[in-house]
Amino acid sequence: MAFSAWLLSKDNDQFKAEIATLDESRLPDADVLVRIEYSSINYKDGLALTDKTPVVRQWPMVPGIDGAGVVEQSGDPRWRPGDRVLLNGWGVGENHWGCLGQKARLKGDWLVAVPEVFSTRQAMAIGTAGYTAMLCCIALEDAGVRPGSGDILVTGASGGVGSVAIAILSSWGHRVVAATGKPGQAEWLRRLGAADIIDRSELSAPGKPLQKERWAGVVDSVGSHTLVNACAQTRYGGSVAACGLAQGMDLPGSVAPFILRGVNLLGIDSVMCPMPRRQRAWERLAGDLDRARLDAIATEIALDQVLDCARRIMAGEVVGRTVVLTG
Ligand code: NDP
Repeated sequence: MAFSAWLLSKDNDQFKAEIATLDESRLPDADVLVRIEYSSINYKDGLALTDKTPVVRQWPMVPGIDGAGVVEQSGDPRWRPGDRVLLNGWGVGENHWGCLGQKARLKGDWLVAVPEVFSTRQAMAIGTAGYTAMLCCIALEDAGVRPGSGDILVTGASGGVGSVAIAILSSWGHRVVAATGKPGQAEWLRRLGAADIIDRSELSAPGKPLQKERWAGVVDSVGSHTLVNACAQTRYGGSVAACGLAQGMDLPGSVAPFILRGVNLLGIDSVMCPMPRRQRAWERLAGDLDRARLDAIATEIALDQVLDCARRIMAGEVVGRTVVLTG
């Protein structure tokens, strides 16, 4: 059976990204065949589709680290035809053909049942960015950051991780301060739940190792000087969940916040995150994420608009989350 998918290839170092018609027989070996209804565009998909950094480990590659759809065939007793499933990460779209297409063959071990309360579109409006935001929020909660502990800083606020983190934390009763480079999105960020907005330039340049204590907790998807300054402004015993590198992969700082203020730096990885922690994150998303706010975060595009969106996410121009209708 033929289907459409994005295909990335490299011939003599010449990179090409195109929509191709593929036959199911070309799909990689795995035990569950899924009809993908929606995928999404994450920062990492942007990197793969524009060949910015070596995200793709083998060629040709169908990109797409996220997918949600319906099982068509299964050799795994846990999954049956008709089940609604979602996938985040596990190296899919990097070293195993991914979900920016109408079909994917995936391992049963990688799949999560789409929570009852979500459509497959809403599952992808959350996607890897939103599920990572929940991993960050749970990490802060597990570290003892409670509503009433003090202000929570969310960096990269208008992005996928940032916008979902604001919606979650505010629904949990936290006072959230959003750091953004898009002052025009201030009203939208307030509607998502931000109590206050600061300009990201306050955090993006080199600063002192210890600064005025402001934050009980931080969700950072930006890295580099922003993460270092966020740690330097975190209150005694507070916690910082670090998941991203939108400003940079470097960490040009000092240990002062950790050894003098007992600040906890919590590393967050979504790709190889063990299944029990993923399921916990998806259960909390189903229970706690306001669906009206989720719908306000998501924009839908068609398969043929994917490359343009990838370029815009790399330029930092995308607001919220982008879901891709594959059909
Ligand atoms: P988005 O592109 O949607 O959001 C990133 C946001 O960061 C932008 O919207 C912008 O927000 C801000 N930003 C962009 N460039 C800069 C810059 N130069 N300096 C400071 N801020 C900047 O990406 P996602 O939310 O999908 O992902 C965010 C980061 O998290 C990425 O680095 C991604 O790789 C990482 N990530 C990591 C995961 C993990 O498992 N650890 C999983 C998912 C994502 P604004 O304009 O509001 O400032």
